[in-house]
Amino acid sequence: MAEEKLPRRSEDFSAWYNEIVSRAELAEHSPVRGSMVIRPNGYGIWELMQQALDKMFKDTGHQNAYFPMLIPLSFITKEAKHVEGFAPELAVVTQGGGKELEEPLVLRPTSETIIYHMYAKWVQSYRDLPILMNQWANVVRWEMRTRLFLRTMEFLWQEGHTAHETEAEAEAETLQMLGVYRTFMYDHMAMPVICGPKSDSERFAGALRTYAVEGLMQDNKALQAGTSHNLGQNFAKVFDLQFQSREGTLEYAWNTSWGVSTRMVGGLIMTHSDDDGLVTPPKLAPVQVVIVPIFKTDVEQAVVMGAADAVFRELKAAGVRVKLDSRDSMSPGAKYYDHELKGVPLRMEIGPKDVEKNTVVIVPRVELSKEEAAKPGRKQKLFVPREGLSERVRQLLDALQSQLFDNALARREANSVRGTTSYDEMKALIERDAGFIYAGWCGSAECETKVKEETKATIRVIPFEEFRSAVQPTHCIVCGGEARHEAVWAKSY
Ligand SMILES: [Zn+2]
Repeated sequence: MAEEKLPRRSEDFSAWYNEIVSRAELAEHSPVRGSMVIRPNGYGIWELMQQALDKMFKDTGHQNAYFPMLIPLSFITKEAKHVEGFAPELAVVTQGGGKELEEPLVLRPTSETIIYHMYAKWVQSYRDLPILMNQWANVVRWEMRTRLFLRTMEFLWQEGHTAHETEAEAEAETLQMLGVYRTFMYDHMAMPVICGPKSDSERFAGALRTYAVEGLMQDNKALQAGTSHNLGQNFAKVFDLQFQSREGTLEYAWNTSWGVSTRMVGGLIMTHSDDDGLVTPPKLAPVQVVIVPIFKTDVEQAVVMGAADAVFRELKAAGVRVKLDSRDSMSPGAKYYDHELKGVPLRMEIGPKDVEKNTVVIVPRVELSKEEAAKPGRKQKLFVPREGLSERVRQLLDALQSQLFDNALARREANSVRGTTSYDEMKALIERDAGFIYAGWCGSAECETKVKEETKATIRVIPFEEFRSAVQPTHCIVCGGEARHEAVWAKSY
């Protein structure tokens, strides 16, 4: 199959990304500008993300619920900061059933308002707290500039919403869920995010504090992959979410909200994929192993297909997501190309010689540094005995999962710049997309705005201690005043 090669990442990262999304059949544009059709290959990744996260949410005591998509416009306008943040992106329904509506309704851009309105009905006393809920839903934000998965008008996400007795509990919840995201991104997405609070200007509309997990993509732009907000009592006050305390007084509850979305699929693509196509971490790969049978004659076909089918059944029984590619309209070479493009972690080739030797050939999608390559400079080919195969496949999937993480971490660190003290140097670094720039910040909005206006870079997070540089900056990179924090700057999606 003489498919045209993908654009190279180094030449046109954006075209490369779009082509992967399209050719790996992950998603495409719908007739409505800015909205996205998620195709089975893309949805399969999202489903695996959902399953893993859903389990983590439940393991930390949360339950799923569902709130409606239409919210009275007046709800959104009740919280001043919230409406300011979301007004430009609201989609408003003014007609229904052929009539003008008495009150316009919005398609939820997020569900704080409707959820806290309902919580107010359910909570009377401290005994009703905490409420720990999550919903899987779609939301609509009228975005002007859209990119599939990264920014679309309608997207899928989860939003957790909790209510607590005290600020300390709400803060602990906010940090716990940020930790859940971080663990998920490390362990499943193989994406070494950095974590910490946002600066005030990057805070969620209506929150007391916002924390984020930020990944560094291969073009050295940051991607905010998830956020967790301590909402304080802002929404509780607006929606009368009050409870009788242990002391008998009437108090406002403390809320948190936290979310990740289909944007993570975009992050996954931009973290791992290469010039041959999509690369998917095994834990999130809808197909982890594809078996490609190789034969010429009818006799060979019978032998090879018998062996391939036995391997397929064995792996399936062992819980591996395996596919037997028995399409007879395609050559093995064309199949290799297709599965590489679509990011299948392990390709297994079975031919007559393999059956004879009681082995299979496994080609990992990304080179494993601890495994030997049969021919240097070519795709790594591993000759694996049929005996104990499913165990070996498990090991290789784990090895590939770790390899992707190691590669991404090495790339993140190679593109993290620390110790810069001159603002001119920082500007030059941002200009050439150097990655995460760690530098001192006095904490003033003026300095932050100046950087944003002059370079388009923003403070991604004020990193938690474990992500901070060994030597802490003493001065603000912009004004030279005393540094209150080390901040991480980058251009972002
Ligand atoms: Zn400053």
